[in-house]
Amino acid sequence: MITSYWCEKAWLPDGLAAGVVVRAGDNGLISEVVSAQRPPLGARRLPGLVFPGFANAHSHAFHRALRGRTHADGGTFWTWREAMYRLAERITPESYLRLATAVYAEMAVAGFSCVGEFHYLHHAADGKPYDDPNTMGHALREAAAAAGLRMTLLDTCYLAGGVGVALVGPQLRFTDGSADGWAHRLSLSRDDATTRVGAAIHSARAVPRDQLADVVAGAGADRPLHVHLSEQPAENETCIEAYGQTPAELLHEAGALSPRTTAVHATHLTVDDRRLLGNSRTTACFCPTTEADLADGIGPARELADSGCPLSLGSDQHVVIDPLLEAQTLERGERLRTGERGRFTPAELVTASTRDGHASLGWPGAGRIAVGAPADLVAVRLDSARTAGCAAEQVLLVATSSDVDTVVVGGRIVASGGAHTRLGEIGPLYAAVMEELWQ
Ligand SMILES: [Zn+2]
Repeated sequence: MITSYWCEKAWLPDGLAAGVVVRAGDNGLISEVVSAQRPPLGARRLPGLVFPGFANAHSHAFHRALRGRTHADGGTFWTWREAMYRLAERITPESYLRLATAVYAEMAVAGFSCVGEFHYLHHAADGKPYDDPNTMGHALREAAAAAGLRMTLLDTCYLAGGVGVALVGPQLRFTDGSADGWAHRLSLSRDDATTRVGAAIHSARAVPRDQLADVVAGAGADRPLHVHLSEQPAENETCIEAYGQTPAELLHEAGALSPRTTAVHATHLTVDDRRLLGNSRTTACFCPTTEADLADGIGPARELADSGCPLSLGSDQHVVIDPLLEAQTLERGERLRTGERGRFTPAELVTASTRDGHASLGWPGAGRIAVGAPADLVAVRLDSARTAGCAAEQVLLVATSSDVDTVVVGGRIVASGGAHTRLGEIGPLYAAVMEELWQ
């Protein structure tokens, strides 16, 4: 195993440096970062600019099977959701393992070293728990391990189809019946070497108000807690109609907003909502390619950052899997929304994609090229059709995952030249499982 890497250029915590040797110990952590103008003997050369591993802070692996299949008839977020339910009906633990392995391998090749899997497809097709009620979670763990990714399994409490609306049909696979039932299943789930267990509230519309605090308590004080927040105006309207409160206010009242919490999307917020999120130091996770794909709208990312929210990024339903495109789309959305350029500096976008993304998933200290951090490195070429001639510190705004040359996770090379080291080309990994799911 190669444990010594020479970076042509590296994105270090205090800025960009040329000629950097990064050594990884057997524990997968960085043991040394030193400068060297030439590669030392035995060191693997990483071309271009080497970033810390990117964190994909919001993923639903099975949604990947919908890519390129939902554009024929227009529609809305809500009609897309119907297609997602029809897909959810078909997935078995076996097909989920194969699908998620391909999805996570696609992430690894694209430069992600860690994924936050917002997991709610828990039970068998009739809603009956499997003999081991965490069978689907085990499939996701096994898939992430096969792809060489670190994972935070955000086990999701999902109890209702809307405020006062019962779950029906394929949605029954999502529910544990009550917050207590969810907490019991969660209590059977343990951290392992590469997986951390986190918790999630699907949304303020999917957990009744009188059970929100129970989910917060059931999550425990140390786990990351994620929640979809105000992705669509209709979510706000239903909550206000039923409770007289916005989703952010409901979460605040239940004690769900805190530095360990991540609010995903945070698209349609009032000024007071923004203040609640900022004052509680809740992370705001944007999923810009998904939000564009689903016509969600453009959330107030700059305002949230200014009010005190760390930001993270996720590829969510995976219309594309590309950490560079997520960062670019966040900034482009801000420009379209405000008529101003440079709403986020390249450094802010890198911090959201790396350090703050990992922190939001319960991996504090990761996402930095520094001694003691996980040895996760992503080399982005500076000599491709897209990047040749760019200023290195701005490459995040022009490169795509096609420019990712080598990806190292925990000191080991998991991908290079656009293929996965152990699993090979990504396209063929999908072929059989897609055919099975859509036959
Ligand atoms: Zn989501």
